Amino acid sequence: MHEPLSYVTPNPHSAWGTYLLQVDRVLPYLGPLARWSETLKHPKRALIVDVPIEMDDGSVRHFEGYRVQHNLSRGPGKGGVRYHPDVTLEEVMALSAWMTVKNAAVNLPYGGAKGGIRVDPRQLSHKELERLTRRYTSEIGFIIGPQQDIPAPDVGTNPQIMAWMMDTYSMNVGATASGVVTGKPIHLGGSLGRVKATGRGVFVTGREAARRIGLNLDGARIAVQGFGNVGSAAAELFTSAGAKVVAVQDHTGTIANAGGMDMADLMDVVRRDGGVGAFTGAERIDDEAFWDTDCDILIPAALEGQITVARANRLKAKLVLEGANGPTMFDADDVLTDRGILVVPDVICNAGGVTVSYFEWVQDFSSFFWTEDEINVRLDKIMVDALRKIWDMADRHRITLRTATFAVACERILMARQERGLYP
Ligand code: NAD
Repeated sequence: MHEPLSYVTPNPHSAWGTYLLQVDRVLPYLGPLARWSETLKHPKRALIVDVPIEMDDGSVRHFEGYRVQHNLSRGPGKGGVRYHPDVTLEEVMALSAWMTVKNAAVNLPYGGAKGGIRVDPRQLSHKELERLTRRYTSEIGFIIGPQQDIPAPDVGTNPQIMAWMMDTYSMNVGATASGVVTGKPIHLGGSLGRVKATGRGVFVTGREAARRIGLNLDGARIAVQGFGNVGSAAAELFTSAGAKVVAVQDHTGTIANAGGMDMADLMDVVRRDGGVGAFTGAERIDDEAFWDTDCDILIPAALEGQITVARANRLKAKLVLEGANGPTMFDADDVLTDRGILVVPDVICNAGGVTVSYFEWVQDFSSFFWTEDEINVRLDKIMVDALRKIWDMADRHRITLRTATFAVACERILMARQERGLYP
């Protein structure tokens, strides 16, 4: 029987509501394990913390922070930390749940977790950001740790923030604990290849999907929403494979060039200005027109809920690669399926980041570091093998790749649940 949570209001259009509907859809494929499925709808632990800091002008401000451990049946919690003004507990719950599914989909020995602070990091000075990060880390310090829950970067956070988190946690426990976070700078125990790993995973799964549907990457037209860590790395790899980026949208605006854009020039502008808006190698277009772009591949790599039913009906792409978490609304997903547009879902498409985070964690424990080639080859193999298993599941049951990914992952999660048994 489903016991709804008292601390969220049911809403099919929210990220958590979308996740619950995705779970319902996979239940018929779980056999007797469906008996344990309620565990997927109940986050194991949700922590809300107050994060007060002194601002540079001497005033004191309070920020709301969260860490949610959705499921720990398969191992320690693993998932990023988001700094964004719209972060809510419910959003972090959904992101943590998708981490549970994602980690199981690529068979990493982790549960799922996520954290966040309701803040616009662009409005804070470097010192304020450091104080915010250190206080937040201290507040969630009793539930994270190399064997308990391992944060990583997400929207609005980066290797510097991971370095502060690692240092704060280490100071509090009295020993350097490099394995408490991943996505760290290289000389603090970070891994080669981590920064671009999520984008690389998007590229690898996209390459495999394109091959299966007979779409040639050479000359393929790509539209990318979000040109941060994930979107820019994916765009670079696709252009190296012969594709051309014809439209890009970020928080500073939307640009288009049907002939393709120079990625190195665009990256320079983003490094200089923090966004694509002022790039002169393309035409500035209306934000909503992005969704009408003539393209073969669409890569949403910004935030949740971007592909609505109305936009899904307008898309011209043949293939959607979900670099972002939860970019497609539940009912819009059905529109894409009906229109024959193939979606490689977030829970496998963007799993490259957490896979190399896992490599980083393993390297930290053994204090033995791999070359970038070793990282990329292993990442490629894990992503290709995982996608092949998911594709087989989709073919066997005639279901979407999303439901197939949930089926493969939830079987692993609930099997672990069953084998561990209920305590006491
Ligand atoms: P980022 O902060 O590096 O980049 C975010 C990008 O989104 C920026 O280009 C920003 O301008 C753009 N953006 C923000 N608001 C926008 C809006 N309203 N319209 C259009 N663009 C907007 O973040 P990231 O790490 O690249 O993460 C992007 C997505 O990928 C998120 O959904 C995140 O959860 C997911 N993801 C990230 C990782 C990772 O390793 N970083 C791993 C898996 C999934």
